[in-house]
Amino acid sequence: MIDFTAAAPTAGNLNVRWIHGTVPGAANMDPAWQVHAYDPHTCVLRQSKAASYEAPFVYLLFGNNRAILLDTGATRDSALRMTVDRLVLDWLAANPRSGYELVVAHTHGHGDHVAGDESFLSRPNSTVVPARDAEGFFGFADWPGEVVSFDLGGRVLDVTGIPGHHPASIAIYDPWSGFLLTGDTVYPGRLYAFDFPAFAASLDRLVGFASTRNITHVMGCHIEMSRRPGRDYPIGSAYQPDEPPLQMTVAQLVAVRDAAHAVAARPGAHKFDDFIIFNGPSRLAVIRQLIRTTWRRATRREGVPP
Ligand SMILES: [Zn+2]
Repeated sequence: MIDFTAAAPTAGNLNVRWIHGTVPGAANMDPAWQVHAYDPHTCVLRQSKAASYEAPFVYLLFGNNRAILLDTGATRDSALRMTVDRLVLDWLAANPRSGYELVVAHTHGHGDHVAGDESFLSRPNSTVVPARDAEGFFGFADWPGEVVSFDLGGRVLDVTGIPGHHPASIAIYDPWSGFLLTGDTVYPGRLYAFDFPAFAASLDRLVGFASTRNITHVMGCHIEMSRRPGRDYPIGSAYQPDEPPLQMTVAQLVAVRDAAHAVAARPGAHKFDDFIIFNGPSRLAVIRQLIRTTWRRATRREGVPP
């Protein structure tokens, strides 16, 4: 059995150049999913910008009895399923055991985080948690403020609710990696607060949650900023050569919280050095959703395999 407690948090590696698309018109050689091992039991994956401009990140955490996959990406295909199957086989080859399970859960229920769900439904020893049922699956009695435990087998995650960007958004703290996984609520990009009071309250709780835990990195699900303070890549960008790191610090999380409070009374977009806050369902956000829906319909018509 692997001891996930004694040396926690483990010294992981984020020395990685994420795939970030190619110049429009150039041949894209990126893999469908880039896999980066933070440590032997923790994988961070990024989807290719050629598959979806959203290029979301997903997380695969291995425990002694089961692994959890957080999010399934932005496309309705089986590319992630094939990648995860290989990673699980590799992990089991290094750490042999029988009856190993996979739980597929979600940081929240937006389309670019759940589109690959279907390909996991037929996977043996696997549970796909409906994106809107985090509360029920993780056993919250007092959503969203409660902190509940989820045990992967000696690797016990803390899960709490952070609605605001999406009604079922969760944050997860993993003591082994020290990651605080924040979904689309905190990341270096456009933070859409569709329900602003809930968003601000969640950030207040998240800062409190973070202050009592040993956090190595705050890990979200996208990169949309450039390295130039306050400057993001336009929505739909296929090429982002000058991205800042994915990982953020607890100080940056506190800055997001403080920024949210500063703009609470002002709907619209508010730029800060490391992120942009959208207070309320801005016109831009509505357009973005429209593009996304139209695009998904289009890809379905073209017969992308499920
Ligand atoms: Zn997203």
